Amino acid sequence: MTTSFCDCQVLVVGAGPTGLVLAAQLLARGIDTRIIDKGDGPARESRAVSVHARTLEVLDTMGLADAFIEHGHRGRRFRMYAGNRSLLNLDMTRNGSRYGFILNLAQSETERLLRSRVHELGGMIEQRSELAGLSQHGDGVDATLRFADGRETEIRAGYVVGCDGAHSRVRHELGLAFDGQPYAGEFLLADVGLDGVGSEDASHLFFRPDGRTLVCLPMAQHRWRVVMPNAGERGGRPPTLEEVQEQVGQRAPWPITVSDPGWLACFRCHLRSTTAYRRGRVLLAGDAAHIHTPAGGQGMNTGMMDAANLAWKLALVAGGHAAGSLLDTYQTERLPAGANTLGFTNKLFQWSTMRHPVKRAVRDVLVPAATALPAVQHRAARRLSQVSVSYPAGPLVLVHALHLQREAHVLRDGLARVQGVVLEHHRDVPVLGRDEGDVLLADLDPPAVQRLQPGQHAQRGGLARSGRADQDHELAVLDVQVEGVDRGRRVLGVHPGGIHVLHACHGGPPSRTAPAARTFTCFT
Ligand SMILES: Cc1cc2nc3c(=O)[nH]c(=O)nc-3n(C[C@H](O)[C@H](O)[C@H](O)COP(=O)(O)OP(=O)(O)OC[C@H]3O[C@@H](n4cnc5c(N)ncnc54)[C@H](O)[C@@H]3O)c2cc1C
Repeated sequence: MTTSFCDCQVLVVGAGPTGLVLAAQLLARGIDTRIIDKGDGPARESRAVSVHARTLEVLDTMGLADAFIEHGHRGRRFRMYAGNRSLLNLDMTRNGSRYGFILNLAQSETERLLRSRVHELGGMIEQRSELAGLSQHGDGVDATLRFADGRETEIRAGYVVGCDGAHSRVRHELGLAFDGQPYAGEFLLADVGLDGVGSEDASHLFFRPDGRTLVCLPMAQHRWRVVMPNAGERGGRPPTLEEVQEQVGQRAPWPITVSDPGWLACFRCHLRSTTAYRRGRVLLAGDAAHIHTPAGGQGMNTGMMDAANLAWKLALVAGGHAAGSLLDTYQTERLPAGANTLGFTNKLFQWSTMRHPVKRAVRDVLVPAATALPAVQHRAARRLSQVSVSYPAGPLVLVHALHLQREAHVLRDGLARVQGVVLEHHRDVPVLGRDEGDVLLADLDPPAVQRLQPGQHAQRGGLARSGRADQDHELAVLDVQVEGVDRGRRVLGVHPGGIHVLHACHGGPPSRTAPAARTFTCFT
């Protein structure tokens, strides 16, 4: 073994969607980041296909949403049928996001786009480089890397994030359990051409009394992703095209013809999660922390949201601008979000594979009746899109979400909500908002809004304030110098979860200050 002191501020283990989002966001914030992956290169299989609105909002802050949309397929509806009877026709344009659709795009494409962003930002993905061991010290983490030829080297990183998937070595090194259980029966998956399924503007879920559901998701170039749970015990043997046709024929309520096979797979799903996302300087994100069925296409999205939540906090802590305790809020916010995703996907799976005749009868009456209500459509579309994720009970939250809902009711967009809430509740702080890539800074007296481009500094009379937007990211961090009456320094940020005062200090450098960690809003 050789020892190298090639230090980096953050070591990202795993270059799947989670690790790539994290690495790109850290690099964009100037954090010295290494990203390793034990595989040969980008994923070749299509795997996760659904990219939801909340993920697109984050990708937009990374300048990537347009490229994703260009390569993917937009479906505006999410439909469920019991036999040939329509149970649900969910209108995704009601999700409250400017991305009123589900974007279907092969995970291999998602990873390709993210990888090129990492490279553009100066990052290098070290392939065939496997994390083999970890040990933590007061000021860093020693990581043993093993290469394909068996050589090992040890590096020291300030922080290590395990984005290394369901069989996470990082989680194993931390000694954290991955509690849960497998689902009975394997899933079949096929990327194919389909004739007769229905509109390409919708995802179609066909329920059957025997629980053998058929899921058909439209992809670009008239391709479809077919998923079929409860396919029995096949020992992971992928289906042939003939088997896919036979299964589709049995499960579909009307004739559907399958053709032109691409990726065909058989896999088993588990419902599992870890009990902690952080141990000291080592953190977990994505499938390393939670796995579940593909119901609702939540997994990859949840991992990318973990990464987005962690990136700005880790950048501030690793960069010496916030205390390490800020990282605790990552677990406090994202562990319940992960648990919520597990509960949601499990419920969706149970509902879609229900066999008990009485329960099915109740479902088949309740779902159409409830979803005829616009409020239920709105709520369901927001939930599926992950737009409804917020952290109202977390330690960064100061204002109760109820206030925000009231404000949101009268004010149209996020910026307006932010202004309304802060003006009402916190007259001693600048008001921040974010609108279409700009950061907005407002003084309270008189109320005024100043539009800052990323990187631009602002000065106002009265209280002199200068703010610098942290490029075009989800979190628009403003490092605000307040002179005069309110002498001190605050780092403020706004992200979809709310506005945060990361620390407020009077005098000394911010890194020595405990984070005040107050949030002024939380979108519902
Ligand atoms: C068939 C299928 C269909 C799916 N459909 C959907 C869907 O429609 N929507 C959705 O949201 N999700 C879906 N998912 C789930 C989705 O694929 C995962 O949630 C997603 O890939 C998780 O991303 P990740 O980056 O956390 O982990 P992964 O994608 O698993 O990436 C982990 C990476 O870590 C690397 N690695 C592992 N161990 C080490 C180590 N010791 N050292 C270095 N590197 C290591 C691996 O090589 C890998 O590249 C599906 C999954 C499957 C299997």
